[in-house]
Amino acid sequence: MRACRRCQEAGFPVQGPVVFAGSDRARVMVIGQAPAAADLRAGSIPWSGAAGRRLRSWLAQAGWTSSELDELFYFTALTRCYPGRQAGGHGDRPPTAQEIALCAPYLQQELDLIQPRIIILVGKLALAYFLGPGSLSDHVGRAYRAGEAPDRPAYYRLPADVWLVPLPHPSGASVWPNQPANREKLEGAIAALRMLRESIV
Ligand code: SF4
Repeated sequence: MRACRRCQEAGFPVQGPVVFAGSDRARVMVIGQAPAAADLRAGSIPWSGAAGRRLRSWLAQAGWTSSELDELFYFTALTRCYPGRQAGGHGDRPPTAQEIALCAPYLQQELDLIQPRIIILVGKLALAYFLGPGSLSDHVGRAYRAGEAPDRPAYYRLPADVWLVPLPHPSGASVWPNQPANREKLEGAIAALRMLRESIV
């Protein structure tokens, strides 16, 4: 992954180095859409900015301590290089379907090597690639066994019994978590994670 130039060679303005972190004994994998600029500034550490602090606070509410986040978690994304700013300067550019396809073999290898028991899908792009159609409002608050998720695309291979738990993107730019009806769904997702945590610790 560190030597990869697939996206640059295809003409995309991505910036390395690749961003991922975690234990090879991880039981939980967090999959976001792509690294953020703050992650590069922090030395290629995932979820380094304000969004990461908010995500960690949700994981703390689910019961995970910071040492458990180090020991039990692996943080990655659909793509591993920073995609750059959006045209017009509003936030980071989401990766395209072509970049996600170019990076998919790496994510598949991470899934195969780590064999997580729980996969936390952060944001609607990760949700779409692992759970298929449906909005954040349709899915957040629920937990699915991969083999029982009704419309799961065959994009990534997963064991049927791995749990998939969607979360909204914790960026301050996302207004979804602040709406009252959605706060209840987010609390449902955190409660589901709390129950699943107890099954793996
Ligand atoms: S995002 Fe993935 S496929 Fe694209 S250059 Fe980086 S490591 Fe390679």
